[in-house]
Amino acid sequence: MSDCIFCKIANGEIPSSTLYEDENFRVILDLGPATKGHALILPKAHYADLTDIPDELAGKAVSVAKKVVKAMIPALPCDGYNVVQNNGPAAGQTVFHYHVHLIPRYENDHAGILWKPGTLSDEDREEILKKASAAL
Ligand code: AMP
Ligand code: ZN
Repeated sequence: MSDCIFCKIANGEIPSSTLYEDENFRVILDLGPATKGHALILPKAHYADLTDIPDELAGKAVSVAKKVVKAMIPALPCDGYNVVQNNGPAAGQTVFHYHVHLIPRYENDHAGILWKPGTLSDEDREEILKKASAAL
């Protein structure tokens, strides 16, 4: 995609703070980090979101996530980390090139990534299980 900024970054056409690179991915530091060390895994090929990326490459992205966090935890060091992947504007996706967020967490960092738990009603459970099962 010629007008996609993450295509350009992933393929080295725009400079980035690169932590790691292999045949399929570039891992960069996020320019608007949620916490110190916030990184993004970018595939070099363009896929809009999780439904678009081939299974094999999505699996490789998880392997890259494991490799980077294993190095990042002791190197920073951080106390934990979130692996986050947003799909669609309602879910917070702002760049429509598949990417995985690796967000180091620190005790009391107040990064605001977690949600307030609600309650699963009997009605919702029945409706969702029925509809989701039928769709799978
Ligand atoms: P999302 O909201 O899930 O689509 O995530 C997009 C992320 O990309 C945000 O965390 C931005 O801070 C980050 N971002 C946007 N442009 C750049 C860029 N040029 N270099 C590095 N990170 C970027
Ligand atoms: Zn792209």
